[in-house]
Amino acid sequence: MKYFQLKLSLFTDSLCQTLDGMMGGNERPHVDYEAETLLARISHRLERLYNTMQENRHKAEEEKAELQSLVSDISHQTKIPIANLKMLNDTLLTRPVTEEKRREFLEATGSQLDKLDFLIRAMVKTSRLETGLIVLEKKPAAIADTLAAAVNGVLAPMEKKQITLSVDYPEDLTVSHDSRWTSEALFNLLDNAVKYTPADGNIYVTVEVWEFYVKIDVADTGRGIPESAQAIIFKRFYREESMHNVDGIGIGLYLAREIITMQGGYIKVVSEIGKGSTFSVFLPWR
Ligand code: ADP
Repeated sequence: MKYFQLKLSLFTDSLCQTLDGMMGGNERPHVDYEAETLLARISHRLERLYNTMQENRHKAEEEKAELQSLVSDISHQTKIPIANLKMLNDTLLTRPVTEEKRREFLEATGSQLDKLDFLIRAMVKTSRLETGLIVLEKKPAAIADTLAAAVNGVLAPMEKKQITLSVDYPEDLTVSHDSRWTSEALFNLLDNAVKYTPADGNIYVTVEVWEFYVKIDVADTGRGIPESAQAIIFKRFYREESMHNVDGIGIGLYLAREIITMQGGYIKVVSEIGKGSTFSVFLPWR
Protein backbone atom coordinates (compact mmCIF):
# COMPACT_ATOMS: atom_id res chain seq x y z
CA MET A 1 0.00 0.00 0.00
CA LYS A 2 2.77 2.38 1.02
CA TYR A 3 4.59 1.47 -2.16
CA PHE A 4 1.57 2.29 -4.32
CA GLN A 5 1.02 5.62 -2.52
CA LEU A 6 4.61 6.56 -3.17
CA LYS A 7 4.33 5.57 -6.83
CA LEU A 8 1.12 7.58 -7.16
CA SER A 9 2.63 10.61 -5.52
CA LEU A 10 5.67 10.44 -7.83
CA PHE A 11 3.40 10.01 -10.84
CA THR A 12 1.20 12.97 -9.79
CA ASP A 13 4.30 15.15 -9.42
CA SER A 14 5.55 14.17 -12.83
CA LEU A 15 2.04 14.59 -14.31
CA CYS A 16 1.81 18.13 -12.94
CA GLN A 17 5.24 18.91 -14.29
CA THR A 18 4.34 17.54 -17.72
CA LEU A 19 1.03 19.46 -17.78
CA ASP A 20 2.83 22.68 -16.77
CA GLY A 21 5.32 22.09 -19.56
CA MET A 22 2.57 21.43 -22.11
CA MET A 23 0.64 24.54 -21.09
CA GLY A 24 3.72 26.70 -21.03
CA GLY A 25 5.11 25.81 -24.38
CA ASN A 26 5.78 22.95 -26.68
CA GLU A 27 7.17 20.43 -24.26
CA ARG A 28 6.35 16.87 -25.32
CA PRO A 29 4.98 14.70 -22.48
CA HIS A 30 7.20 11.95 -21.24
CA VAL A 31 5.61 8.56 -21.83
CA ASP A 32 6.58 5.98 -19.27
CA TYR A 33 5.77 2.67 -20.92
CA GLU A 34 7.17 0.74 -18.00
CA ALA A 35 4.71 2.20 -15.51
CA GLU A 36 1.72 0.34 -14.14
CA THR A 37 -1.18 -0.11 -16.54
CA LEU A 38 -3.30 2.74 -15.15
CA LEU A 39 -0.42 5.19 -15.22
CA ALA A 40 0.63 4.03 -18.67
CA ARG A 41 -2.89 4.57 -19.95
CA ILE A 42 -2.91 8.13 -18.64
CA SER A 43 0.50 8.74 -20.19
CA HIS A 44 -0.71 7.51 -23.57
CA ARG A 45 -3.73 9.77 -23.48
CA LEU A 46 -1.53 12.68 -22.50
CA GLU A 47 0.61 12.08 -25.53
CA ARG A 48 -2.46 11.96 -27.74
CA LEU A 49 -3.73 15.18 -26.18
CA TYR A 50 -0.35 16.74 -26.85
CA ASN A 51 -0.47 15.69 -30.52
CA THR A 52 -3.98 17.12 -30.94
CA MET A 53 -2.83 20.36 -29.32
CA GLN A 54 0.11 20.54 -31.70
CA GLU A 55 -2.15 19.91 -34.71
CA ASN A 56 -4.53 22.67 -33.61
CA ARG A 57 -1.61 25.00 -33.06
CA HIS A 58 -0.33 24.32 -36.60
CA LYS A 59 -3.81 24.79 -38.04
CA ALA A 60 -4.20 28.14 -36.24
CA GLU A 61 -0.80 29.24 -37.54
CA GLU A 62 -1.72 28.24 -41.08
CA GLU A 63 -5.02 30.11 -40.86
CA LYS A 64 -3.23 33.17 -39.55
CA ALA A 65 -0.73 33.05 -42.43
CA GLU A 66 -3.61 32.62 -44.92
CA LEU A 67 -5.40 35.63 -43.43
CA GLN A 68 -2.23 37.68 -43.58
CA SER A 69 -1.71 36.80 -47.23
CA LEU A 70 -5.36 37.67 -47.96
CA VAL A 71 -5.02 41.08 -46.29
CA SER A 72 -1.81 41.78 -48.16
CA ASP A 73 -3.48 40.68 -51.45
CA ILE A 74 -6.41 43.02 -50.80
CA SER A 75 -4.20 45.96 -49.98
CA HIS A 76 -2.13 45.27 -53.08
CA GLN A 77 -5.23 45.02 -55.28
CA THR A 78 -6.93 48.15 -53.94
CA LYS A 79 -3.80 50.32 -53.98
CA ILE A 80 -3.85 51.19 -57.69
CA PRO A 81 -7.57 52.04 -58.06
CA ILE A 82 -7.44 54.13 -54.87
CA ALA A 83 -4.30 55.99 -55.99
CA ASN A 84 -5.97 56.67 -59.37
CA LEU A 85 -9.13 57.92 -57.68
CA LYS A 86 -7.14 60.26 -55.43
CA MET A 87 -5.22 61.66 -58.36
CA LEU A 88 -8.35 62.24 -60.46
CA ASN A 89 -10.14 63.79 -57.52
CA ASP A 90 -7.20 66.10 -56.73
CA THR A 91 -7.00 67.26 -60.33
CA LEU A 92 -10.71 67.98 -60.47
CA LEU A 93 -10.51 69.91 -57.19
CA THR A 94 -7.41 71.94 -57.82
CA ARG A 95 -7.25 72.65 -61.55
CA PRO A 96 -9.58 74.41 -63.92
CA VAL A 97 -10.68 71.85 -66.51
CA THR A 98 -12.85 72.06 -69.59
CA GLU A 99 -16.26 70.45 -69.57
CA GLU A 100 -14.98 67.76 -71.91
CA LYS A 101 -12.02 66.93 -69.62
CA ARG A 102 -14.29 66.93 -66.57
CA ARG A 103 -16.48 64.29 -68.21
CA GLU A 104 -13.43 62.25 -69.16
CA PHE A 105 -12.15 62.36 -65.57
CA LEU A 106 -15.51 61.43 -64.12
CA GLU A 107 -15.76 58.48 -66.50
CA ALA A 108 -12.31 57.39 -65.34
CA THR A 109 -13.33 57.62 -61.66
CA GLY A 110 -16.47 55.65 -62.53
CA SER A 111 -14.44 52.82 -63.99
CA GLN A 112 -12.06 52.75 -60.99
CA LEU A 113 -15.06 52.63 -58.66
CA ASP A 114 -16.52 49.74 -60.69
CA LYS A 115 -13.22 47.92 -60.30
CA LEU A 116 -13.24 48.38 -56.51
CA ASP A 117 -16.89 47.38 -56.33
CA PHE A 118 -16.24 44.20 -58.34
CA LEU A 119 -13.17 43.40 -56.24
CA ILE A 120 -14.98 43.76 -52.92
CA ARG A 121 -17.93 41.69 -54.12
CA ALA A 122 -15.61 38.94 -55.35
CA MET A 123 -13.74 38.98 -52.04
CA VAL A 124 -16.92 38.71 -50.00
CA LYS A 125 -18.15 35.86 -52.19
CA THR A 126 -14.84 34.02 -51.87
CA SER A 127 -14.67 34.41 -48.12
CA ARG A 128 -18.31 33.30 -47.71
CA LEU A 129 -17.59 30.20 -49.73
CA GLU A 130 -14.37 29.47 -47.85
CA THR A 131 -15.80 29.96 -44.38
CA GLY A 132 -18.84 27.83 -45.09
CA LEU A 133 -21.34 30.71 -44.89
CA ILE A 134 -22.47 29.69 -48.36
CA VAL A 135 -23.26 26.02 -48.58
CA LEU A 136 -23.44 24.42 -52.00
CA GLU A 137 -26.54 22.37 -52.48
CA LYS A 138 -26.20 19.43 -54.80
CA LYS A 139 -29.43 18.18 -56.27
CA PRO A 140 -30.40 16.62 -59.61
CA ALA A 141 -30.67 19.40 -62.17
CA ALA A 142 -30.51 19.68 -65.96
CA ILE A 143 -27.02 20.50 -67.23
CA ALA A 144 -28.67 22.34 -70.13
CA ASP A 145 -30.19 24.89 -67.72
CA THR A 146 -26.90 25.40 -65.89
CA LEU A 147 -25.12 25.95 -69.21
CA ALA A 148 -27.81 28.30 -70.51
CA ALA A 149 -27.51 30.53 -67.43
CA ALA A 150 -23.72 30.71 -67.87
CA VAL A 151 -23.89 31.39 -71.62
CA ASN A 152 -26.45 34.19 -71.15
CA GLY A 153 -23.88 36.20 -69.24
CA VAL A 154 -21.41 36.31 -72.15
CA LEU A 155 -23.73 36.82 -75.13
CA ALA A 156 -23.26 40.61 -75.23
CA PRO A 157 -19.43 40.75 -75.07
CA MET A 158 -19.28 37.82 -77.51
CA GLU A 159 -21.35 39.69 -80.04
CA LYS A 160 -19.21 42.80 -79.59
CA LYS A 161 -16.11 40.79 -80.54
CA GLN A 162 -17.88 38.78 -83.24
CA ILE A 163 -16.96 35.55 -81.49
CA THR A 164 -19.06 32.53 -82.34
CA LEU A 165 -20.12 29.94 -79.82
CA SER A 166 -21.11 26.34 -80.44
CA VAL A 167 -22.58 24.20 -77.70
CA ASP A 168 -22.84 20.43 -77.89
CA TYR A 169 -24.45 18.47 -75.06
CA PRO A 170 -26.55 15.35 -74.60
CA GLU A 171 -30.18 16.32 -74.24
CA ASP A 172 -32.06 15.66 -70.99
CA LEU A 173 -28.85 15.14 -69.06
CA THR A 174 -29.48 15.47 -65.35
CA VAL A 175 -26.62 15.54 -62.86
CA SER A 176 -26.55 16.11 -59.13
CA HIS A 177 -24.93 19.55 -58.76
CA ASP A 178 -25.51 23.04 -57.44
CA SER A 179 -26.84 24.66 -60.57
CA ARG A 180 -26.52 28.33 -59.52
CA TRP A 181 -22.90 28.08 -58.38
CA THR A 182 -21.84 25.74 -61.19
CA SER A 183 -23.27 28.30 -63.62
CA GLU A 184 -21.10 30.91 -62.00
CA ALA A 185 -18.00 28.73 -62.39
CA LEU A 186 -18.82 28.03 -66.06
CA PHE A 187 -19.55 31.70 -66.62
CA ASN A 188 -16.07 32.57 -65.31
CA LEU A 189 -14.53 30.14 -67.83
CA LEU A 190 -16.65 31.48 -70.68
CA ASP A 191 -15.94 35.08 -69.67
CA ASN A 192 -12.20 34.34 -69.85
CA ALA A 193 -12.61 32.57 -73.20
CA VAL A 194 -14.23 35.74 -74.57
CA LYS A 195 -11.71 38.08 -72.92
CA TYR A 196 -8.61 36.21 -74.06
CA THR A 197 -9.75 35.37 -77.60
CA PRO A 198 -9.23 37.94 -80.34
CA ALA A 199 -12.15 39.17 -82.46
CA ASP A 200 -13.69 36.65 -84.90
CA GLY A 201 -12.55 33.68 -82.79
CA ASN A 202 -14.55 30.64 -81.72
CA ILE A 203 -15.63 29.11 -78.45
CA TYR A 204 -16.78 25.50 -78.20
CA VAL A 205 -18.63 24.08 -75.22
CA THR A 206 -18.95 20.30 -75.17
CA VAL A 207 -20.48 18.02 -72.57
CA GLU A 208 -19.44 14.39 -72.43
CA VAL A 209 -20.66 11.64 -70.15
CA TRP A 210 -17.86 9.65 -68.52
CA GLU A 211 -18.05 6.70 -66.17
CA PHE A 212 -17.73 8.63 -62.93
CA TYR A 213 -17.89 12.21 -64.15
CA VAL A 214 -19.67 14.53 -66.49
CA LYS A 215 -17.00 16.46 -68.39
CA ILE A 216 -17.74 20.00 -69.57
CA ASP A 217 -15.15 21.54 -71.89
CA VAL A 218 -14.87 25.24 -72.57
CA ALA A 219 -12.45 25.58 -75.48
CA ASP A 220 -11.36 28.75 -77.23
CA THR A 221 -9.19 29.76 -80.17
CA GLY A 222 -7.50 32.47 -78.10
CA ARG A 223 -3.91 33.34 -77.31
CA GLY A 224 -3.26 30.33 -75.13
CA ILE A 225 -1.47 30.02 -71.80
CA PRO A 226 2.25 29.23 -71.48
CA GLU A 227 2.91 25.86 -69.86
CA SER A 228 4.84 27.53 -67.02
CA ALA A 229 1.69 29.46 -66.01
CA GLN A 230 -0.86 26.66 -66.35
CA ALA A 231 -0.64 25.52 -62.74
CA ILE A 232 -0.62 28.96 -61.14
CA ILE A 233 -3.42 30.67 -63.06
CA PHE A 234 -5.86 29.14 -60.55
CA LYS A 235 -4.26 31.00 -57.65
CA ARG A 236 -6.16 33.89 -56.10
CA PHE A 237 -5.22 37.19 -57.79
CA TYR A 238 -2.82 35.58 -60.22
CA ARG A 239 -2.73 37.34 -63.60
CA GLU A 240 -0.31 36.82 -66.41
CA GLU A 241 2.11 39.74 -66.73
CA SER A 242 1.26 40.22 -70.41
CA MET A 243 -2.48 40.47 -69.67
CA HIS A 244 -2.52 43.87 -68.05
CA ASN A 245 -4.28 45.46 -71.00
CA VAL A 246 -7.27 43.15 -70.40
CA ASP A 247 -9.63 43.97 -67.52
CA GLY A 248 -9.60 41.52 -64.65
CA ILE A 249 -8.44 40.93 -61.10
CA GLY A 250 -7.38 37.29 -61.21
CA ILE A 251 -10.13 35.77 -59.12
CA GLY A 252 -12.33 34.08 -61.76
CA LEU A 253 -10.42 30.83 -62.07
CA TYR A 254 -9.80 30.63 -58.33
CA LEU A 255 -13.53 30.90 -57.63
CA ALA A 256 -14.37 28.44 -60.42
CA ARG A 257 -12.03 25.86 -58.95
CA GLU A 258 -13.37 26.40 -55.41
CA ILE A 259 -16.95 25.90 -56.61
CA ILE A 260 -16.15 22.72 -58.53
CA THR A 261 -13.92 21.12 -55.87
CA MET A 262 -16.54 21.85 -53.21
CA GLN A 263 -18.80 19.53 -55.22
CA GLY A 264 -16.21 16.77 -55.39
CA GLY A 265 -15.08 17.63 -58.91
CA TYR A 266 -12.01 19.22 -60.48
CA ILE A 267 -10.87 21.53 -63.28
CA LYS A 268 -7.91 21.09 -65.59
CA VAL A 269 -6.48 23.06 -68.46
CA VAL A 270 -4.78 22.14 -71.72
CA SER A 271 -3.42 24.99 -73.75
CA GLU A 272 -1.03 25.88 -76.52
CA ILE A 273 0.30 29.36 -77.19
CA GLY A 274 -1.32 30.89 -80.24
CA LYS A 275 -3.75 28.00 -80.69
CA GLY A 276 -6.12 28.29 -77.75
CA SER A 277 -7.09 26.83 -74.39
CA THR A 278 -9.46 24.14 -73.18
CA PHE A 279 -10.68 24.20 -69.61
CA SER A 280 -12.34 20.93 -68.56
CA VAL A 281 -14.74 20.76 -65.64
CA PHE A 282 -15.28 17.30 -64.16
CA LEU A 283 -18.45 16.99 -62.11
CA PRO A 284 -19.06 13.73 -60.26
CA TRP A 285 -22.40 12.07 -60.93
CA ARG A 286 -23.45 12.25 -57.31
P1 ADP B 1 -8.67 37.44 -64.72
O1 ADP B 1 -9.31 36.99 -65.99
O2 ADP B 1 -9.48 38.41 -63.94
O3 ADP B 1 -7.26 37.89 -64.89
P2 ADP B 1 -8.75 34.66 -63.90
O4 ADP B 1 -8.53 34.05 -62.56
O5 ADP B 1 -10.07 34.37 -64.52
O6 ADP B 1 -8.55 36.20 -63.72
O7 ADP B 1 -7.59 34.19 -64.87
C1 ADP B 1 -6.24 34.22 -64.43
C2 ADP B 1 -5.28 34.35 -65.61
O8 ADP B 1 -5.33 33.16 -66.39
C3 ADP B 1 -5.64 35.47 -66.58
O9 ADP B 1 -5.11 36.71 -66.17
C4 ADP B 1 -5.02 34.96 -67.87
O10 ADP B 1 -3.64 35.27 -67.88
C5 ADP B 1 -5.15 33.45 -67.77
N1 ADP B 1 -6.31 32.92 -68.52
C6 ADP B 1 -7.48 32.48 -67.98
N2 ADP B 1 -8.31 32.00 -68.93
C7 ADP B 1 -7.65 32.12 -70.10
C8 ADP B 1 -7.98 31.80 -71.48
N3 ADP B 1 -9.16 31.25 -71.81
N4 ADP B 1 -7.04 32.08 -72.43
C9 ADP B 1 -5.84 32.62 -72.09
N5 ADP B 1 -5.48 32.95 -70.82
C10 ADP B 1 -6.37 32.71 -69.84
